[in-house]
Amino acid sequence: MSEMHEIPERSGTAFRLNKGERLVVIDPRGEQVADLLAFNAHDIDEVISSGRTLDYAETIQLTTGHKLYSNRSSVMLAIEEDTVGRHDFLLTPCSYDTFHHFYPTLPPHRGCFGNLAAALEPYGVTPDRIPVAFNCFMNVPIDGETGKLRVLPPISRAGDFIAFRAAMDLVIGLTACSAPDSNGGTFKPIHYRVEAA
Ligand SMILES: [Zn+2]
Repeated sequence: MSEMHEIPERSGTAFRLNKGERLVVIDPRGEQVADLLAFNAHDIDEVISSGRTLDYAETIQLTTGHKLYSNRSSVMLAIEEDTVGRHDFLLTPCSYDTFHHFYPTLPPHRGCFGNLAAALEPYGVTPDRIPVAFNCFMNVPIDGETGKLRVLPPISRAGDFIAFRAAMDLVIGLTACSAPDSNGGTFKPIHYRVEAA
């Protein structure tokens, strides 16, 4: 069994995920979002792309069998298992500005954006390079007629997970999200493990 890592509440991390390895992202307590970014480990100009992925998938509801593409249309990650089936790939990581916009009375937090920027800095990723993240477990239902979107508590329960297979050598950024509405009003840790190819 590979080692389990914990991302404490409202924080983030970055690590290498080599081609063929499997990344399992676990919601240990339920109703907790984890923002995921991926960069080509050998060329950080190549980065995970919401637009490419949603275009090729022809849906915004990504789950087992779907692939996450880069800005250069290469497969970066394939979703191999998913016990939840509800994730978001539309919204950018929460940030100081998000808090000013949605939660003006709460103490601002640097959010997933700030946590990702700090964790990815050693890999040469500057803040302006951070794109839309694949938001594991984030529940963003869309009204198909009006296009109106809402951010509701995740439907994930304790122990739910999503597993990805790396299709190239990657640098991964991963958080335990900091925004109240995305996480049912409370902040929990995220667990992950990397399994050998
Ligand atoms: Zn967040």
